[in-house]
Amino acid sequence: MNVVVLLGPPGAGKGTVAEVLVGKGYIHVSTGDLLREQIRLETPLGIKAKKLMDGGQFVPDDVVVGMIRDLLKDSAFGTSYLFDGFPRTLVQAEKLAELLQTLNGTLEKVVLLECPVETIVERLIGRRTCGKCGSVYHVTFNPPSKAETCDVEGCELTQRADDTEETVRKRLKVYTEQTAPLISYYEAEGLIQPINADQPINDVRADVIKVLG
Ligand code: ADP
Ligand code: ADP
Repeated sequence: MNVVVLLGPPGAGKGTVAEVLVGKGYIHVSTGDLLREQIRLETPLGIKAKKLMDGGQFVPDDVVVGMIRDLLKDSAFGTSYLFDGFPRTLVQAEKLAELLQTLNGTLEKVVLLECPVETIVERLIGRRTCGKCGSVYHVTFNPPSKAETCDVEGCELTQRADDTEETVRKRLKVYTEQTAPLISYYEAEGLIQPINADQPINDVRADVIKVLG
């Protein structure tokens, strides 16, 4: 099993890049999407996670590590995973390393999407998503053909509860405090591949495809 991690602040474009890599044989794993599915199903985990997520805080490490452990333990030989939004803390990174060691898996690369703060705020405030298929749009930078409507499903697009300016700024602070330390952690292992994410979507996607060979 091989794993590629997409690292970067909220709004850098991790989900948008992941959409094209799925066509290249990767299984896209977004812990945010997995958590939102628990919220939709109103499970006890979802009810607890919703409060934290809506306030821009992380859910506890053991919850997300448990989700990743369940997913990896049954994976077929040779599967390639693309992790989007995991790991997000040093504890999660250490747990991932342990899991991969146990399962004979390899962390191949950590692709770091770099993007300035003001671009991020603009991207997240204008983000719209499809509740059915998960497609990600932006009102200006990546609009659907018909306003507020998913091109794939034809249903109305939604705005995430945590994509308000106030919560976005809180999430950026949490990123700086808890996730940014992963950059030097993975640099020390020689795994970081930086990408300029402040370019048009197709250029960012092409750069990522290039570094993944
Ligand atoms: P973004 O688009 O900001 O990168 P995600 O959809 O990846 O957002 O995550 C949304 C929220 O889900 C996060 O703000 C956090 O509350 C929670 N979350 C997702 N992944 C993790 C994780 N690995 N550890 C802790 N919390 C997480
Ligand atoms: P993340 O998963 O890192 O939180 P998303 O992929 O959801 O980020 O992207 C956040 C928002 O920014 C979405 O509305 C998306 O359409 C838009 N977006 C993503 N990449 C770019 C880009 N390179 N240029 C302009 N807008 C982008």
